[in-house]
Amino acid sequence: MKYVKVILDLPFDKILTYHVPVSLNDKVQIGMRCSAPVGKRKCQGFITGIISKSPPFPTKPIIDIPDEIPVFSDAMFKFTKELAEYYFMPWVKVLKAALPPALSNKKGLRLEIDSKDIPTLSYQQPPYSLSKDQKDAISQIHSSIDKKEHEIFLIHGVTGSGKTEIYLESIFHSLKQKRGAIFLVPEISLTPQMIKSFKDRFGERLALYHSGLTSSQRRNEWLRIKTGKADIVLGVRSAIFAPLENLGVIVIDESHETTYSQQEKFKFSALQAAFIRGKLQKSVVIMGSATPSIETYYHAKKNKYNLIKITSRVDNKQLPEIIVVDMNKEKMEGNKNIMSRRLQSAIKQTIEQGEQVILFMNRRGFSSVVMCLICGHIEKCKNCKVSLVYHTSSNMLICHHCNYSTEIPPICPRCHRSYLRPVGIGTQRVEKEIKKLSSDFVVQRMDSDIITGKSTTHKKVFDDFLEKKIDILVGTQMIAKGLHFPDVTLVGIISADTQLNLPNFRAGEFTFQLLTQVAGRAGRGERTGKVVVQTHYPEHYSIRSAVHYDFEKFYENELDFRKELNYPPFSQLVSLTIKGSSENNVRKDAVVLANMLKQNNKAVEFIGPGPCPVDKIRNKYRWRIIIKSKNRENLNKLMPNLKDYWNKIPHKQETLSIDLDPVDML
Ligand code: ADP
Ligand code: ZN
Repeated sequence: MKYVKVILDLPFDKILTYHVPVSLNDKVQIGMRCSAPVGKRKCQGFITGIISKSPPFPTKPIIDIPDEIPVFSDAMFKFTKELAEYYFMPWVKVLKAALPPALSNKKGLRLEIDSKDIPTLSYQQPPYSLSKDQKDAISQIHSSIDKKEHEIFLIHGVTGSGKTEIYLESIFHSLKQKRGAIFLVPEISLTPQMIKSFKDRFGERLALYHSGLTSSQRRNEWLRIKTGKADIVLGVRSAIFAPLENLGVIVIDESHETTYSQQEKFKFSALQAAFIRGKLQKSVVIMGSATPSIETYYHAKKNKYNLIKITSRVDNKQLPEIIVVDMNKEKMEGNKNIMSRRLQSAIKQTIEQGEQVILFMNRRGFSSVVMCLICGHIEKCKNCKVSLVYHTSSNMLICHHCNYSTEIPPICPRCHRSYLRPVGIGTQRVEKEIKKLSSDFVVQRMDSDIITGKSTTHKKVFDDFLEKKIDILVGTQMIAKGLHFPDVTLVGIISADTQLNLPNFRAGEFTFQLLTQVAGRAGRGERTGKVVVQTHYPEHYSIRSAVHYDFEKFYENELDFRKELNYPPFSQLVSLTIKGSSENNVRKDAVVLANMLKQNNKAVEFIGPGPCPVDKIRNKYRWRIIIKSKNRENLNKLMPNLKDYWNKIPHKQETLSIDLDPVDML
């Protein structure tokens, strides 16, 4: 008789031993899905082991095996397990997240055995000769692939330095050695053009992995990879779970993008997952960005990653000029408009020349921020140096990190001239102001309100803009990245301050990234472009270094700030969010939990509890405790006990969610 170990689909990890009934004896394999009895109930699970010796206790039989093939290989088991351990998550939760959603239902998988061989790969020479920088990078990566060792590369290359060609060459090199590749892109850049260029290049060998596919399409793509018919996977963060047996290369394009951190189901970062998977499968991991995150760059500088720097564009074209407009001065000189005179004249001039404009209104501001109407000052927390959030109910400014609170200063502490007032500029306001400038301009707004309103689509707006039916595109971060509009020669940033004042310690980093990426949108065609940035903080290092395209300078300043306050990379953070429909209970639970944690874990630092920056979502109140730990060991001691502490608190319907290495911190 055969016996199997089964990890059961329960909210926590439980592995039980069962015996295999005769009817399933020939079918059973490690890595298969199965159903098995738990008490009187039937439960789904995965077979993690087969044993032939009978255990010293009575066993029940498994009930069914729906598939012809195992869904998990040994490598995938190891990978998901280590990932679960890193995030202090139940393994079974990660296993489930690693499968396409259609496999969570009961329909069985059949292994299609058709005679069709794996399509051959025809290598296509790029239509240009590679630059020296590209060749150097490629040769470094190739020799690493040849060694079949896990190494991590960071290509820090300005926009337009030809990083894509380096990725593609590396992938081809790996495929020639019969090892597959995963190419990760941020959600926002997985456009139809991108998919097409990959299809042209890799043909039938390409599989896609993204949320735009139907669940049966996803299942099919998964099967094609699983059965070896496709060995290049292009996709968003979940593609890191693609079931490739031989994995030579993992590419993470625009590695700084926050969409690599998944917020639903289980919270993980595709970067962290790639490092773990790459280590286990001896794959080379290549990250690329013009604006790597501080943490990534820090590790590259400490030789944890191989750093490849590319400082010039392939066509040697100039990066656009970035002009900063001091909005304090603008107001002092009598201009009350949200667009500076400089920006207004630049818009007029650009359109008169038959060129196009993008106006960028960064992510929706927190209308609950209180700002000086003259100098743009926003009060920051004394302890955390993040922006304070205005609470109308109590008429107080509150730190959403540590709960420090203060009254609104009667007069602006920075310029002593004005009072602080709640603010928030939206894209609609910008649209209105431009129409005042000239009624002849064709303006189109592009934000989530427009797109969800269904009156138009993403694609329609972009096509119209490309065909020059639109002069000025006004939008949120949706339009900041990736796209290529050759006739855009002016990009205006209405307020860099929304980003700079986010109640998040990464605000400075987000601002630098935003300005650099946006500048990459201007002057993609023959003509060089120009960027106008409006801010109340023209002296801020994020803005100053972005203007000079000086990443190193920005990095130094930002690293000092991180060090002073012990933020990552000098610590590891965990954000614990308590949610519930009674504000009182949520706060009480947060306070009690924080006290328990503080008493029992003297080695780590706690911030809070305090309300989350977005303190109410879908009628659920949200409070947060941030754990700041100097090292992983301290977290390893604390985290396994967290659920026990939480369960000691008698609560009605509050929930606790854990975010390790949080990014958005909303
Ligand atoms: P990055 O990802 O570094 O911003 P891309 O890889 O998108 O840059 O390359 C920018 C543009 O330059 C693309 O249109 C690409 O086709 C082109 N390109 C890449 N390498 C070369 C080269 N060696 N010679 C000429 N053009 C190149
Ligand atoms: Zn604070």
